[in-house]
Amino acid sequence: MSTTKQWSFSESVANMAERAFDALGLDSGVAGAIKSCDAVLQVRFPVEIRGKIETFTGWRAVHSAHRLPSKGGIRFAPIVNQDEVEALAALMTYKCAIVDVPFGGSKGGLLIDPRQYERSEMQLITRRFTRELVRKGFLSPATNVPAPDMGTGEREMAWMMDTYRTLNPEDINHAACVTGKPVAHGGIRGRVEATGRGTVFALREFFRHREDLDAAGLSGNLEGKRIVVQGLGNVGYHATKILQEEDGAIIIAVIERDGAIIDESGLDIQAVYTHLVESGGVAGFGESKYFEDGLSVLELDCDILIPAALEGQITAANAANIKAAIVCEAANGPITFEGDDILNQRGVVVLPDAFVNAGGVTVSYFEWIRNLAHIRFGRMERRYDEMRGQHMAQALESMTGSKLPDIVRDELVRGADELDLVRSGLDDTMRLSYQQISEELHSNDKISDFRTAAYAVAIKKIARSYLDIGVY
Ligand code: GLU
Repeated sequence: MSTTKQWSFSESVANMAERAFDALGLDSGVAGAIKSCDAVLQVRFPVEIRGKIETFTGWRAVHSAHRLPSKGGIRFAPIVNQDEVEALAALMTYKCAIVDVPFGGSKGGLLIDPRQYERSEMQLITRRFTRELVRKGFLSPATNVPAPDMGTGEREMAWMMDTYRTLNPEDINHAACVTGKPVAHGGIRGRVEATGRGTVFALREFFRHREDLDAAGLSGNLEGKRIVVQGLGNVGYHATKILQEEDGAIIIAVIERDGAIIDESGLDIQAVYTHLVESGGVAGFGESKYFEDGLSVLELDCDILIPAALEGQITAANAANIKAAIVCEAANGPITFEGDDILNQRGVVVLPDAFVNAGGVTVSYFEWIRNLAHIRFGRMERRYDEMRGQHMAQALESMTGSKLPDIVRDELVRGADELDLVRSGLDDTMRLSYQQISEELHSNDKISDFRTAAYAVAIKKIARSYLDIGVY
């Protein structure tokens, strides 16, 4: 494979998968079936905005349907195109397989700058786009289930669900047609933070593996580790806030749209986020040093670099200058194929997007199940568990003759609520997936990087499902 060509995003993802096909020695027919995008819908639709008719363009790509529904977010962005949506749909296929979420891969996009429109206009546009997707068979609880992505959130998901319900009043499972909804409309607790928290669970598990840590030239745990983050959106914000508050990591730089800020003694993420929301940028935050050229700060010396913004940020142009010991891909596709090659050659450990940011779709899976079950997790057993905890505490106290410390008693008698269960399920998922990837990395001598190992784990599972069912 030549590295002189400029690959498109979808080619870049396909090339990365190709490395794993080669390492596994997979039959080229099966590899071709896995790699190709099954279907892409492009829609154009008019909406009347402020007395004028505007035409919008949107896409929904279904990369795989070996498991249904096909799953993946919908982004609303001023730069989105078919190639990008196909690349992101492919990533969803591998992502779901890595974390054992029984879905195919899909992704959608609408070409729009949401900041240019009022809330009521966004509602009109979103509802109209949803009608197109539903009518053309690209949105339903059984076949294709969108979720939030860049430029979309709970609000858009609520409008999409309501539009689907209006078109399908008989579908008792209508709430499962999208995930990432507000909790009051069938959403699940912990979904908003899920991708960020999943990123933290991924890093914590990495730090539990001595051999992998040694290879990165790191030791200890996350406490005191120096972190640079690009993007303080939903993913970057939650990941760094948790890393700072729960793990004692030091966030030394934040890169945003308007530039970057650096403070070697550590930035208070909540305060930076508030400043960002209020002023629209990071410039002028406290005592920090501001750099207009944000991209150059990706090259800052640090332990962990977390790109959590756009795709294509680490390329052939800057990969040689990256000084981080680990690059933890919280965004989708932040490293190009060429950039990845360079980082691999230099021995920089890359924890790949298809694993690191899979927390979002994992909790989406929990939400989808909750919607089909029509019951909140923990509703049946919480008080029962509390009662058992009470009995246990009483038994312990009467056997030992001494009173349990309040903190121990409180922990023992507390029944798990939905958020506890979601976090526990997410933690377990990220740990098990990491273990499978690490095992693949160490057991296959043709594989020397986490990305190829992660793809190999995914591809084995997908190939098995193609071979078991057959191709008709
Ligand atoms: N948009 C998110 C992603 O890229 C979430 C997808 C989902 O929850 O279906 O993984």
